Order: sequence, then structure tokens, then C-alpha cells
Amino acid sequence: MSLRTVIIDDTTLRDGEQSAGVAFSIEEKIDIATRLDGLGVPEMEIGIPAMGEREREEIQTLAGLGLNARMLVWSRMREEDILECLNLGVGFADLSMPVSSQQISLKLKRDEQWALATIKACVKTAREGGLSVCVGMEDASRANIDFLLKVAEAAQSAGAERIRFADTVGVMEPFGVLETIKALRSATDLDIEMHAHDDLGLATANTMAAALGGATHLNTTVNGLGERAGNAALEEVVVGLRQLYGIETGVDLREFPELSARVETASGEPVGWRKSLVGKRVFSHEAGIHVDGLLKDLANYQGVDPAVVGRSHQFILGKHSGSSAVTSVFADLGLVLEKREAAAVLVKVRQFVVRHKRSPETVELLALHRQLAI
Ligand code: MN
Repeated sequence: MSLRTVIIDDTTLRDGEQSAGVAFSIEEKIDIATRLDGLGVPEMEIGIPAMGEREREEIQTLAGLGLNARMLVWSRMREEDILECLNLGVGFADLSMPVSSQQISLKLKRDEQWALATIKACVKTAREGGLSVCVGMEDASRANIDFLLKVAEAAQSAGAERIRFADTVGVMEPFGVLETIKALRSATDLDIEMHAHDDLGLATANTMAAALGGATHLNTTVNGLGERAGNAALEEVVVGLRQLYGIETGVDLREFPELSARVETASGEPVGWRKSLVGKRVFSHEAGIHVDGLLKDLANYQGVDPAVVGRSHQFILGKHSGSSAVTSVFADLGLVLEKREAAAVLVKVRQFVVRHKRSPETVELLALHRQLAI
């Protein structure tokens, strides 16, 4: 696999906000956009103009921040919606059209010929209005590949520069994605963007498979925020592509914890403690053999270097701790424990965890240690 780059198009501010019950204030949007830009995220999708005057004003505000990132707006493939995308200071729109027969027939009550004709007409309108265009192929994962190729052809002939392959309902798996994106890649010159959902826990895997298959652009969201089970997580995609495939995104995640926390608060959706790369406990170690191994050499139990996401290993004392962890944690607190003392503290720690269903905090540890002296 040769070293190459892909472009992250983060949609925290569009599909992320589209999660049930999530609404960002303009201050939160500005902060999130600025932080994304600061990490080097090259593209971001920032809203849906047809939603109304307020949304359009906020899009204009974000576009006026003077950030480096290229900004996109999202729109249905409808003339009147596209007109709302003009004159907002954003030069790029994703125009979304259902492409599965399920959605064309049973949602739109139309047919494929109508869809192709509408794509041509709408892309033309957008281009005449000065917009660059990505044709968003909604529900592409359940569509016929031959029809997707017709959509790509129509999109290109009307002046689009990109197609978006949306696994709208989150039902694909990586091997199928690889094959499908390869087929699209060999049939069109357009840029190809992957948009994955995590309904089966495969959004990141599918997004990475798309990159391997030749996708040039990838949709992500911070913390994997998004409708239902969420979208592909920015942090997982960036770290996974680099570590597993040597594919670079130019995104530097060392300041990511602040952005993650900001999105967590602004979305009102707590990040699970076990959420990869950002969860509170994913770099914490308690088990005696693991801590002992890490203290001897980090590589013994380190799969991902926490420093790439601005974090570090933590040793937590708990039921499965051994005495070397106790000694190490207390040494960090400035207390040198003798072997017998460490063993006695460990007994107290185990009792504490069983009683409280959590590990002791620093002050509680010190209190447990003081009890020994009594
Ligand atoms: Mn989506």
C-alpha cells in the first residue's frame, strides 16, 4: 500500500447536529469550527440553508470566520432549497438525492429517470449560482451499482466535482464497501466521498475500507456524534488510517481532548468511558499483570500511543491491581511504600472497590493509607 493522503470532510456541525435532540448554539458552532480548523481538518459541512433564516445567518457567520477549512452546506436536490444555498459565503454544496429504489419509489414516489433528470437540472442550477457541487447519493448502500454509475455520469456531465456514497442506514460491511468503492473509482473521474453510519458498529471500518478502495474524501464527526448510532468518528478514522495503512489526513489530534469535551457538552451526549481514543478509561490500566508489564516497557501492553490524541497512560488501583501498581501510584503521590505496606493498602483498595463500585480517588487512597497507621 503506497503512502497517500485523503481529505477529511467533518460533518459534526451538520450530521452531528442532526442527531435526535442535539442543537448547537452559534457560540458552540463557532468554537467547534475553530477547533476543527486548528487541528487541520481541511473541510467541514456546516449546516442546511433550507432550514431557515436563523440557520442561514449562522452559516454566514461561520463562513466569515476566515478559517482555512473549505466549507460546505447540505441541501436536498430541490431547486428551491438550492437557491437558499447561494450568497452565504460558502462556495460548496452537497446536494442529496435518494438513489435506492426503496427510497426513490417509497419515499419520493418517483422513478430513476426522474432522479437522473432532477440531478442534472439541480446541479446545473447550483453551478450557475456559482457553487461547486457534490452529489450526495442518499441510501447508496442499498442501491444498484449500475444506477450509481448513471448517477455519477449525470453528476459529472452537469458539472459536479464529487459524489458522496452514503451508507445512510448503516448496513454495509468493509469488504462490500471496498468492492463497491473500487468499482466506482474505476468508472468515474469524480472525487468520491464516503459517509458511513455506525448502526452495526462498522462506521470506522467502512470509512477506512472506502479510503483503501479509492475514496478521496471521508465524512467524520467528533466523538462519532450523529443520527442513531452515529457517524464515523473523526478521531478513529484519523488514527486508524495513519497507524494501520499509512494514509495521512494532515489532521493533528494532540489538542483533540478539548474539542471532544466541547462537543460532548454542546451536544448533551456523554462520551462512554470505553469509547475508543476519547473515553475516560481507555488508557487506564488496573490489572496487576498489565501494569507490571507497562512499568517495565510501555510496548508490552500499548496498542495505541495515547500521545497521538493528547493523552497519557493512567494507572488505576482496583480489585485486580498488584502491589507493583500500588507502589508506583503512591510513589507518584510522593510516598514510598514498603512491600508489606503496599500489600496492606491493596487489601483496603479491594474492599473499597467492592463497596463503592469504583476506584478510589487520590484523596481516598491517601485516607486508606492513613488507616493503616491507626
Ligand atoms: Mn448521515
